[in-house]
Amino acid sequence: RGLGGSDRAAYDSLAYLVGKTLHDIMPAALADGFLADVRRVIDTGLPHVYEYTLSADDCAGNAHDGPPGPQWFMGRIAPIVAGAGDVPDCVAWVVINITRRRQLEAELQRLATTDELTGLLNRRAFLARLETAMETARAAGLPLALAILDLDHFKAVNDRFGHAVGDAFLRYVAKALLAGPAPGRVLGRVGGEEFAVLFEGLALPAAAALLREWQMQFHVRPFELADQAIGVAFSAGVVAMADEDASTTDLLRRADHWLYEAKHAGRGLVAHPGWIDRRLG
Ligand code: GH3
Ligand code: MG
Ligand code: MG
Repeated sequence: RGLGGSDRAAYDSLAYLVGKTLHDIMPAALADGFLADVRRVIDTGLPHVYEYTLSADDCAGNAHDGPPGPQWFMGRIAPIVAGAGDVPDCVAWVVINITRRRQLEAELQRLATTDELTGLLNRRAFLARLETAMETARAAGLPLALAILDLDHFKAVNDRFGHAVGDAFLRYVAKALLAGPAPGRVLGRVGGEEFAVLFEGLALPAAAALLREWQMQFHVRPFELADQAIGVAFSAGVVAMADEDASTTDLLRRADHWLYEAKHAGRGLVAHPGWIDRRLG
């Protein structure tokens, strides 16, 4: 009974379905798919469990008083032997609405991969994304650059204005980094005041140039707090994926090394392989 309302409950009397075929009430492609599933269960004698979406609008003739929009369903088709022998000749097909479960799963996934403060990818999700990007870039022979950014003297912001302002400052930085122009970039917050940027399809000079452009942008647009402007400055290390990078750890370690060099050379700098600390001549 029922066309599967929210929370497993049924809605709509199915009286209108009696005597109709699937093709009478839904688009041919959908009906063909469902019938193929039924046929397979009869042919193999094995039950079939599957999940699919369907909207009340997809079905002709129903009262449309269930939940609006696409709903997720779990269908279970079990073979039934009605006649003689052990060959199934019909099926029992039970369907429940699992939309709520699906929504909760999506929400859990979002919470597990997002940094709560900034909305960027969290460290774990960024590393997973980095791993995929490395594999894809390798397979396609495309360049890939990775940068680690660390805010300069951020502790002073917390010390002077308090932790809540520090948080707002971090959100401002994340928003600005997201808004900056750079196709194919992925941003993560990988530490307290550390961000990572993945530049897909970008070679080292282009990635380094973009980072310097971001530094300039922050120079022009400081974080505004009431009537004060608090300067945003970061140091960054950036590297291009090379054959020597067997894993994300290798690539991160190299980017971290150049971040350290940028800090050591006086902060506010973007350091990378081939980069020369001009202070040392
Ligand atoms: P440096 O230029 O050497 O990077 O100096 P720094 O002050 O930025 O670095 P340090 O590592 O000494 O301090 C980082 C500070 O970031 C310390 C910590 O309290 C602060 N911090 C880390 N996570 C958060 C956060 O989520 N919110 C706020 N408000 N502060 C944070
Ligand atoms: Mg740090
Ligand atoms: Mg710092």
